[in-house]
This record gives sequence, structure tokens and C-alpha cells, in this order.
Amino acid sequence: MVTNIEKKYFELHPGSAERHDKARNIFPDGVTHDGRRLDPFQIYATKGSGAYKWDVDGNKLIDYWTGHGSMILGHSHPEIVSAIQNQIELGTHLSANSDLEIEWGSLVKKLIPSAEKVRFHSSGTEATMMAIRMARAYTQKTKIIKFNGHFHGWSDYLSAGATDGMGGIPQETLNTMIVIEPGNIDLVTHALESNKDVAGIIVEPTGAHMGLEPISTTFLQKLRDAADKFGIVLIFDEVVTGFRVSRGGAQARFGITPDLTTLAKILGGGLPGGAVAGKSEIINMIESSSDPNFNKNNRIGHNGTFNANPLSAAAGVTALNLIDSTNINAIAEERSVQLTKGLNDVLTRMEIPGCVTNLSSLAFLRIGINESVADPDQNPNSAQQNRSLGTGDLSKQLGLALINNGIHATSTRFILSAAHTKDDIKTTIQAVEQSLIDVRNQGLV
Ligand code: PMP
Repeated sequence: MVTNIEKKYFELHPGSAERHDKARNIFPDGVTHDGRRLDPFQIYATKGSGAYKWDVDGNKLIDYWTGHGSMILGHSHPEIVSAIQNQIELGTHLSANSDLEIEWGSLVKKLIPSAEKVRFHSSGTEATMMAIRMARAYTQKTKIIKFNGHFHGWSDYLSAGATDGMGGIPQETLNTMIVIEPGNIDLVTHALESNKDVAGIIVEPTGAHMGLEPISTTFLQKLRDAADKFGIVLIFDEVVTGFRVSRGGAQARFGITPDLTTLAKILGGGLPGGAVAGKSEIINMIESSSDPNFNKNNRIGHNGTFNANPLSAAAGVTALNLIDSTNINAIAEERSVQLTKGLNDVLTRMEIPGCVTNLSSLAFLRIGINESVADPDQNPNSAQQNRSLGTGDLSKQLGLALINNGIHATSTRFILSAAHTKDDIKTTIQAVEQSLIDVRNQGLV
């Protein structure tokens, strides 16, 4: 049965519905990223500016997907636009090194505490693939520990433990991965003691899905200590948190330095980009030596047509310079705190059990989860107990209702930018309240 929320969704989005029908004959599920699948269909966007974007039906949305977390400056930031325009005239790929890549790499080194050396890629998936390869080459060991729910892109290795989409991955590949529950250091220690072939640990430092399934900084510190004790490589996947949770990412905010850091999203200023940064001696597993045996058997070969391409570099340099020299992170965080407070008031007013939590410029709506359960410092099983958020009928209907009411977020997660104004946040709080009324009218909360 079509719900009232779905009926309104169809009414407001006929152009997107039409395009979805066409796209289903071109793309699997009609989309080009699994995360953009939406039942009955995803909106088709035409343009973005600051905190807003518009769809093909002329609806204006306040954007909390913000380029999957890459647009902390907001859409079409004037300095980014002009940097890209200038560079296009000079060439988008010169098959040579550039001053831009030096500037880009220097900014990564300046901002990210663990970055002694840097290597650029074109996406977060490539960066995490390279990071685990570096850990393996450096330690000459095979296995990688990762945590349930933690997302590190779509490579064969790092898909281990996924609950969906595991087709085509050789069992031999999965056998090189150890997937354990986050939050419990005893499980990690046990894995390390019972297995002498572990090369490294990779972790989303704020917890799975950007922090929706939170882990504590105490756990992170214990991972750091365990990596030191067992002589293995600790990798922070800061594809989302890098340049967001603070200028220097989660590692700067928490004061815990990994051996390797993976970066993407904000790194590219809204264009494709990725990087692994970290200890020189590990990153230098790519560097050629005078020893032919090392070069053949130990060195990591690494190509990639669009690594550090001038367009991404121009956008990336501009974004990182703005992050370095202005208070973008603080503004985005302030807005996130305002949103969190306002939404908590809404939950209280509507007597909906749950809470909204905030992690710098990320805000998480947790219906049915109270603050002590959401807080990983109070609850070591917080990650597991928050795992069902974002799934189920309530979540689906709330997501559609939010779009109907002018908000593009997932039903649970709001990724803010410095372009969101205080008034945008006020409008958002009202729109979320209306969306909760809409789902309540369907008997869902
Ligand atoms: N790691 C994390 C923590 C991510 O959130 C993502 C993407 N959402 C990736 C890696 C993969 O990055 P990309 O989509 O650029 O390949």
C-alpha cells in the first residue's frame, strides 16, 4: 500500500520519477552508487549553491548529504569555482609533476599529524586499498583486522564482514581479513595473540558510518597501544573525518596518532581525490631503491592516471588553505550543535524516545536510543546497539518525509557544512518536526 508520505513524494517529484524509469534501463537499480538507492526512487539534482540544492522538479532542498561528506565549504564555493575555472584553462592533465601537487601534499603534511609523507589517489577506496597493502608490504605479514560495520570503500578485501553485496569476492581474499566487533579491546588482543600473521588494523576513528555506531577514544588509544605492542600498523580511515572532525581530523581532535591515515572527500575540495599519509618508512614502500630484489619483491608499484590531477589539486589546495586559515570547521560544528539541541527539543516536545548526538559537524538522530546507550564512554556495546539505526520502515518513511519537507539527509545522519546558516538550521528543525509528525500520522513513532 502506498503511504501518504509516498503519495506526496510522487506528487512533488514527477520529473525524478520519470528519469528513474529511464535510468533503470541504463544502470543497475537505476543509480550509480549503492548509497543513492531509494525506494521508490532517488531525486535528480540540477544544481547546488552554499547549503542548498535544487532538483529537476524545482524543489529547493537544504542539503545534509553535502557531497557524501566532501562539501564542508558548501556547494560551489566561489574560491573553489574560480580555482577550477583557472586551472581548466591551463589544462586538466599535463602528464607531468606540478607545483600544485607539492602545495597539496604540503598542506596535508601541515594539517594531518601523522603525515610525514603522502601519496595521492583518486578515491577513498583506492586510498584504503593502498593503506592495507602498505601495512602488508612493510610488516611482511598478511592479515588485516577490521571492525564490523566499519566502511572502507568497496574493494574485495575491505568488503569483508559486509552484510550486503559480497558477490564475486574470492574466499581466499576474505581469509586474509579478520573481522571483529568494535569497542572491545580483548577481542583485538585475542586476535593478535592467536595469530602471528597480522599486518595491521584499520578503523573508522569515530566509529562505523561516520560515528553512527560510535566507539570511544579509550578504545582508539588501546588500539594504538596494541599496535605498538605487537609491532603492527595502525590505520585510521579518515576519509570522512579528515579535515572535518578538526582541521587535522580525528587524530588531532583526540590526540592519538596512527601510523597511516587514509584521506579523500574534503581533501579534493569537491573533486575526486584520495591519499594515504603517514610514517615515511611505511609510505616509502612505494619508493624505488638501488636493490633490485627489494624493487621486485618488496616495493609497492603504484600508478593511476588521475593521481594528483591538476583540477583536483587546484580544488584541494583551495579547500585545505581555507580550512587552514579560516574557522570553517568551527562554524560547521557550531551549526551542528545548534541542530542537535533543536532536534533534541523536538524529540522531548513530541515525547519521542531517543536522542540526537553531535560529533563536530556531524549530527545523528537516534530514535529509540537514549543518551547513555549512545555514548560509547558509558556503554561499551554502543556500536552494536546503534546498529539498526537507518534501517526499517520508520527510517525509510522518515527519509522520504524529510525530502518532502525540503531536507536531503539520510533519516539518521546530518553532515553539515560551514555554508549552513543559523536560519537554515531553524528551518531544518521545523522541517524535521513536520517529518516526525508525518511519520507519527502513519503510526510509526
Ligand atoms: N572510507 C570511509 C570511512 C568512507 O566513508 C568512504 C566513502 N563513504 C570510503 C572509505 C570510500 O571512499 P570513496 O567513496 O571515495 O571510494
